[in-house]
Amino acid sequence: MKAFYQLCVLIGLVIKTHSGPIPAMTGKEEEDLAKNYLKKLYNLNEEETLSFGRTVSEMSLKLGEMQTFFGLEVTGTLDAETLEVMKKPRCGVPDVASYAVAPGNYKWSTNQLTYRIENYTPDMSQAEVDDSIVRALKVWADVTPLKFTRIFSGVADIMISFSARDHGDGYPFDGPNGFLAHAFYPSPGIGGDAHFDDDETFTFSSIQGYNLFLVAAHEFGHALGLDHSRDPGALMYPTYSPRDVKTFVLPQDDVNGIQAIYGSNPKKPVDPKKPDPTRPVTPNVCDANLVLDAVTMLRGEMVFFKNGLFWRTQPFSNQNEQHLIKSFWPEAPENIDAAYESPSDDLVYIFKDEMVWALFGYDVAKGYPKPLSSLGLPKTVKKISAALYDEDSGKTLLFADDQYYSYNEAKKKMDKGYPKRVEDAFPGMTGQVTAAFQYRGFSYLYSGPRMYEFGYGRLLRVLDNNYFLPC
Ligand SMILES: [Zn+2]
Ligand SMILES: [Zn+2]
Repeated sequence: MKAFYQLCVLIGLVIKTHSGPIPAMTGKEEEDLAKNYLKKLYNLNEEETLSFGRTVSEMSLKLGEMQTFFGLEVTGTLDAETLEVMKKPRCGVPDVASYAVAPGNYKWSTNQLTYRIENYTPDMSQAEVDDSIVRALKVWADVTPLKFTRIFSGVADIMISFSARDHGDGYPFDGPNGFLAHAFYPSPGIGGDAHFDDDETFTFSSIQGYNLFLVAAHEFGHALGLDHSRDPGALMYPTYSPRDVKTFVLPQDDVNGIQAIYGSNPKKPVDPKKPDPTRPVTPNVCDANLVLDAVTMLRGEMVFFKNGLFWRTQPFSNQNEQHLIKSFWPEAPENIDAAYESPSDDLVYIFKDEMVWALFGYDVAKGYPKPLSSLGLPKTVKKISAALYDEDSGKTLLFADDQYYSYNEAKKKMDKGYPKRVEDAFPGMTGQVTAAFQYRGFSYLYSGPRMYEFGYGRLLRVLDNNYFLPC
């Protein structure tokens, strides 16, 4: 068979600010990384790289394909954003199926499948490995007619093994990080098999290392015939992201993908008109009814939060990247209520229910999360719906219901005489403030799908919520 494999690359997250594209030709190391990435994942032709003229065009073409897949600006050059994505944790069935077959062409002809765990990783107990594999298969069995039966000898449809470096299938692993695992599309022989790189540290419940359940559930998606998804919220998105495994629910995009191949679980029939509201759906920036959870500046970029994901964009650029919150801040909550940046301490504060987290780069600052009362808010405040840092006064406004509190960032304490009515400071703002931020001295208060622009003490304009978020 034509072999398709996935490599999952995980490299430590490095904080960076977007400083604009870097020159097309970067250091040798970066170039090698990019070549290797494109060869393995985008079918960059090795021979052609020998010819200088073709290297450039072929590389450029493949960079463009990769940039298109990830929703990056298509420059055809190895810019900083592209390199950043290449360094991210990922699994690697080739992302572009142009040299694969049409999705769905790989499919098991039976719904009764067998699996066998051939060996174990020393990172976890055998019971933990068994449990992770069972739960990873159940993710798919729950939404399809597929049934998985474990066998302990002989050849199973899905053979599961841990191995390092060269392990006999022509796709050697690469040591710690880099490629995490690979799996083969359904077919006899090696088809359906899932291999895990034993140079990685796999974990059962910790957010450190790679959670075996998450990696395995993704790989089994391939073993059942799924390609990578472009939906950053999907399990089948190529890059690895920590998720809360205790509350994990297979996202809608993955359900749609697998049900297109096998149909739904006859015991849990689905109504396509009424999707399961508990399933995560990746928000669409072009949704006119989109109600953002929170908005903040972050080191010169704008960050817009909705459900478990966020968009980040440069002001008024037509580029916006969408990511899972957990892929940047593994220790942050899955979704948030409010956020603001405090330039004085270079921290971003995020709020969820009665707790506040301080983020420094990709880390949660020491001592966090803390209760809202640690800011001096009364215990009766159970939730902050929006937060806005006001540059002029150095105060942060914290919105709760139709009132707001004022927090003195320099003194790190609440101002006296609050709460006040939102309408007193923002005349015309009668609805609940759902998100807020300040940009160039103007305050933007979101209420539902609309955004209210305030300046000079009055309401200036009412705008659509995607005024700053290019659709
Ligand atoms: Zn994959
Ligand atoms: Zn392998």
